[in-house]
This record gives sequence, C-alpha cells and structure tokens, in this order.
Amino acid sequence: MPILKYDKIQPHDMLQNSSQQNSDGYSYWYEKGHWVEQFCYKKNNCAIVAINLLSYFKHQLEILFIITIFLIISASLTFAISCRMYKSYMVLGRQLKRGLNMRQVECVYQPIFSMKNNYLEGCEVLCRWRNEDGEQISPDLFIGEIEKNGQSRLLTKIVLKKAVAELTHAGIFGQIRTAINTFPDDIASNHINKLIDNEVPSDKHHTITIEVTEKEIDDLDSVVKNIDSLQRQHVKFAIDDFGTGYSNFQHLAELGVDYLKIDQSFVRRIEPDSLRGQLVNNMVKIAHTLQLKTVAEGVEKQEQFDLLKKMGVDFSQGYLHAKPMPIEEFSDYVKGHIKPF
Ligand code: C2E
Ligand code: CA
Repeated sequence: MPILKYDKIQPHDMLQNSSQQNSDGYSYWYEKGHWVEQFCYKKNNCAIVAINLLSYFKHQLEILFIITIFLIISASLTFAISCRMYKSYMVLGRQLKRGLNMRQVECVYQPIFSMKNNYLEGCEVLCRWRNEDGEQISPDLFIGEIEKNGQSRLLTKIVLKKAVAELTHAGIFGQIRTAINTFPDDIASNHINKLIDNEVPSDKHHTITIEVTEKEIDDLDSVVKNIDSLQRQHVKFAIDDFGTGYSNFQHLAELGVDYLKIDQSFVRRIEPDSLRGQLVNNMVKIAHTLQLKTVAEGVEKQEQFDLLKKMGVDFSQGYLHAKPMPIEEFSDYVKGHIKPF
C-alpha cells in the first residue's frame, strides 16, 4: 500500500469555485497542489482530506524507479550469465581441442571394496581436465564436448597411459584391480584392444577392468567380438551405470561381460521394501544367474551398504568408503588395505 501524505486544509478554504459537488454532500477540487475531497454529513459537519499531489506522485515515481532498476539489474544479470555460459561453452570446446594432452588431463582414483570381507578390491580411474585458467573441470561438463570433437579415443589413451604410469610409480599397479572408463566407440573400433596391448604389460592384463555403458552400442557384433578377444587375455569388462537408459538383460547376456555396476540413482534412495529395493534385488539375482559380479555405485550411507550386502551385491564404491583422490593420497590410502592378487 502506498503511504500517502495527507495534509489538513482548514474548513474555511473549502469552498472554491472549481469544486464539484453532488447531492450526497461529497465534493472534490484541486487547490494549492492538493487534491481535496470533502464529505459532509450535516451542514456544518464535514470531513476533509487533502492529498499532497507532489508527494503522491513523488512516491509513485519512487516505486516506478525501484521497479525499473530491479528489471534492469535482472535483465543485465540474465544477459551476463547467458554470455558467460555461452563463452565458457565455446571456450571449453576450443580449449579442449588445444589442450587435451597428458599435462592437462588428470586422473583421480576411487576405491572399490569387496562387501564380503571389506577388502580393497580395486579402484576406478576418473578423469579431470585442468583448463588453461588452471581450473579443474569435472568430466560431466566436458565428456560430451570430447565426443563432439571426435577426441574420445585420445582421452581414453591419455587416461589409460597416465593411470598405468601413476599407479606403477606408486608401486600399486597390478596389486589391485584398475577399472578404466571407455566410450562405446573404443570397444566397437578395436581401439581398446590396441591400447591394452601397447600400454599394459601382459602379466597385468588380469588386473584391468574396462567399464562401458550400453548406450550407443550400434555394432553389437564387433563389440561382442572385441570384448571376447580381450577376455581371452584375461581383461575383465563391466557394464557401467546399469539401470539407466538402455539397460537390458538380453544385451548383458550377449555382451558376456564380467561385472554389472548398479547405477547410483538406484542406490541413493534404496529402502528395504520399496520398488527400488525390489528392483536392485532382482538385478542382483539375474546378474548372478548370468555369472556376473555386481558393484553398487554411489554408496554413501552405512544403511545402504548393509542392505546391498544383504541383497548379495559383491562390491561397493562410494563416498562411504572414500571420494576419488589424486595418486599421492590414493597411494597412502591403499597402504594397509591391499589384498594381493
Ligand atoms: P561414472 O562412471 O558413473 O563414475 C562415477 C561417478 O560418481 C564419479 O563422478 C564419482 O566421483 C561419482 N561418485 C562416486 N561415489 C559417489 C557417491 O557416493 N556419491 C555421489 N554423489 N557421487 C559419487 P565423476 O568423477 O564426476 O565422473 C562422472 C562421469 O564421467 C563418470 O560416471 C563417467 O561416466 C565419466 N568419466 C569419468 N572419467 C572418465 C574417463 O576417464 N573416461 C570416460 N570415457 N568417462 C569418464
Ligand atoms: Ca564408471
């Protein structure tokens, strides 16, 4: 409600030539910068209200001014944010093209534990990208761009090479299982087979797991053939993020993989008798029927761990155990946890 300034005008000022009066004893007129209204109940019993027009309009102008400033600030902010997003998107793409090299790609390692005996089974290698401004960028923000730029094979090569070098330097490569994320194209094109042959000593092949998502597997025959060929060299395969997108047990049987990673969206809100709980329970049963081991991703709470263990899940990965960490930290973490192959 606007606060109006009412100034009193003396009754003797009331009667003006310019006034309008009606039969109800109500009249109004303009006088000395005021809008005046008079209500008369009896002849000499009148109430008078005078609105100071200058302060009234000043007040309205103040409100208009505040609204205008607010709109200008909102529009500028929206514009600035959109420009920044557009610029960082464009810059990200360009910088990736220039900077996808061993120096700019970093690896972090997240432990994976056996649920049966709490042994450290292995780790998943996750990449980060250090851009030209020195900021560490999460893969969710740049993986799509990598695929668009046709740099997926290059990224897989850098991550595998770097992880092997860092883990070897820390003295833990081959002591625990190392899981590497790949793109469907790495498998379909035989790229991963060549990489493993070139970058991983053959006596360590059995400690490598290749993680692959089911989505975008177009050439199923080539994928099956290449998986089979690496499995003969004792490399293991895991289907990543199972339960999202194209998840399909028929597919799983055809691919002949070794592990099934239950997506963290299932784990996050798992409860004993919920639909989600029953789904995970059935996933685990079917996976075991197909001779696959199961890994629960995104385990954050002890109750989730206990429930998943009761359901027969084999391995657990998540913040409950540890967040992904750089090699120096991971190397310290591993000491005392190692279960030799
Ligand atoms: P992903 O393969 O499903 O990896 C698991 C993601 O979940 C990782 O995110 C990890 O940090 C996160 N995570 C693990 N435990 C927890 C938990 O308890 N709670 C929550 N909230 N999150 C957890 P990150 O590192 O950001 O990676 C995101 C995705 O990017 C990965 O999902 C993977 O699809 C992709 N990615 C990461 N590194 C590589 C890589 O080297 N190559 C390829 N092709 N993809 C990669
Ligand atoms: Ca993964």
